[in-house]
Amino acid sequence: MRTRSHSTSAFDPLEDKIRKLEEELDSARRTIIRLVPIEYQEILESFYECQSTRDFWRWKELAAEKIANRVPENAITESFGTRRADCPLCGRSTMGPYAEGFAIPRGLIHHLTGFGNAHHCDVSEAAFRLGRKYVEREFGEAERTAQQAEDADKARVLAARRTTETLYKVHPFSPPELVDEGSRSWFGTCRAAEKISWAEARVISLGFSRHLDGNVLSLTLEREDHIIFADIRDEKKITFNIFKSPPKKSKRLKKGSFDFLDSIKHDLQSKFEERLSTALLLF
Ligand SMILES: [Zn+2]
Repeated sequence: MRTRSHSTSAFDPLEDKIRKLEEELDSARRTIIRLVPIEYQEILESFYECQSTRDFWRWKELAAEKIANRVPENAITESFGTRRADCPLCGRSTMGPYAEGFAIPRGLIHHLTGFGNAHHCDVSEAAFRLGRKYVEREFGEAERTAQQAEDADKARVLAARRTTETLYKVHPFSPPELVDEGSRSWFGTCRAAEKISWAEARVISLGFSRHLDGNVLSLTLEREDHIIFADIRDEKKITFNIFKSPPKKSKRLKKGSFDFLDSIKHDLQSKFEERLSTALLLF
């Protein structure tokens, strides 16, 4: 039978003191919430209905909106075409050159969520901190475990794809990448498989050489003191990355880069040379 390790359960007076202080702080936060009118209190305590951390992030916005929409008409003043009111939770106002109070609803929502430069409401902040601790206690560990499993699955799929699909070498030293790696996979802007050979032909027509080493493809053009790697993976353009030649690992390896849109139809060679010269000059 396995016995529980006692190494982490040894009494630590400092940890015990911190725990007690945190409990007192949470108790003070609950007291702050109970000082506001019951209809707001119910909204601020409804984080107990959250079923996940993601739910909680949405809940904060929704709670702020509900509170802002419940400000009674007699607490709202009309000033220079905007409806304004003090915070119904903490009583705080804003002092502007023309008007006082938060614009209803957006200005007040920003105060309640602490968005941007807005001063975060002390009352809603107390509720949000309690809510954050609640979802962490209830779902934090399970969510992290699920995330790790998902990441491991993705890594397995990527590793398998790397052995069967074409990898694109677009840098002298960085590892070659799949067609949709990096920002292309987030934005879904990678070139469709049937357009890849069109892009290869376009680059080769500009004087580039095609090298295939196993499943690693590179398209390069060597010049006197630089080498250019073509990256054909984007949907509507080819990116040319210029490096010193012969390439040596150093901070100054890269000499520039430029995009060449697929929509360019005529005088490809002269337009390419023009852009290459500009990119080298700019660098
Ligand atoms: Zn407030």
